[in-house]
Amino acid sequence: LKGSNEGMTATDKEIERALRPLSFEDFTGQAKVLENLNVFVRAAMLRGEALDHVLLHGPPGLGKTTLSHIISNELNASIKMTSGPVLDKPSDLAGLLTNLQPNDVLFIDEIHRLNPIVEEYLYSAMEDYKIDIMLDSGPNARTVQIKLNPFTLIGATTRAGMLTSPLRARFGISCRLEYYDAKLLTSIVQRSAAILGTPIDETGAYEIARRSRGTPRIANNLLRRTRDFAQVKGNGYINVDIAEMALSALDVDQNGLDDMDNRILMTIIDKFKGGPVGLTTIATACGEEAETIEEVYEPFLIQEGFLKRTSRGREATERAYLHLGIIPNYRTGD
Ligand code: ADP
Repeated sequence: LKGSNEGMTATDKEIERALRPLSFEDFTGQAKVLENLNVFVRAAMLRGEALDHVLLHGPPGLGKTTLSHIISNELNASIKMTSGPVLDKPSDLAGLLTNLQPNDVLFIDEIHRLNPIVEEYLYSAMEDYKIDIMLDSGPNARTVQIKLNPFTLIGATTRAGMLTSPLRARFGISCRLEYYDAKLLTSIVQRSAAILGTPIDETGAYEIARRSRGTPRIANNLLRRTRDFAQVKGNGYINVDIAEMALSALDVDQNGLDDMDNRILMTIIDKFKGGPVGLTTIATACGEEAETIEEVYEPFLIQEGFLKRTSRGREATERAYLHLGIIPNYRTGD
């Protein structure tokens, strides 16, 4: 139930696709980002040019892939999808780039994980719509320059800080996606329920929404699991009681924190006197990868005021103590 899309089955992916908004109008939230993108897309269309390259960053599950599809729809262009770790060598990238039609979109997910050699190739492609390809090897080796059709690169990343500065500098447009508030997520849950054909009332939708860690992907997942409870334990209708029952069965607590969120907070408080403690130490103690804690769990815990990042490490806040029912004085050790 994390925000990440790892470990999703084929059905999960199909349903996720079905729930994906297809136009700017259909997309809920991120108002500022949408407003700007809308202007840039329209301007590019008016000039008959490719849209400038776009960097979308923010925690997983907030709509980066969805927005990329919408941008290509709005541009009346096709989109080719790939991801940083998949592009092993420059020829993988060249194959994709040379197949793009004018003004098409190339989407690279996890762009912070590009192989540095592939990344270098991307520079001239982004800047001049050209790539140099090496033909033959040994004494016959020579490079030829290939002209590409103008295209838009959309890069998505959960770690904007990990992008090299030459790469970052080549994106004319950079948008940060933020967590959604409960009201926006309520309308996303209602929309998804309508698509799934599941009756739901507003309090039921709100209960799921407010406990979804500000993330549409999680809201949609919780909705689907709640629908199962409604069908098996109720009459198929989702109200606040069914939502409560499902969420507590799924170990999503009253603040929307899941098992791992709570384990992280408990570890800091219980084992390290509330911190400050380093990320890798927390990761080892919790049995989770440091990278996942940093990308998936920590940003939400910080935004909600359960966790603080200081120069000496992570610290549990008073809110974390209250949440776990522990008296904050404990941290002074007296
Ligand atoms: P990311 O690429 O940022 O990890 P996705 O674009 O894959 O996130 O979104 C995950 C799921 O959440 C998709 O099924 C999508 O339908 C849904 N979703 C994301 N943002 C929105 C939104 N603003 N409105 C409605 N559904 C959304």
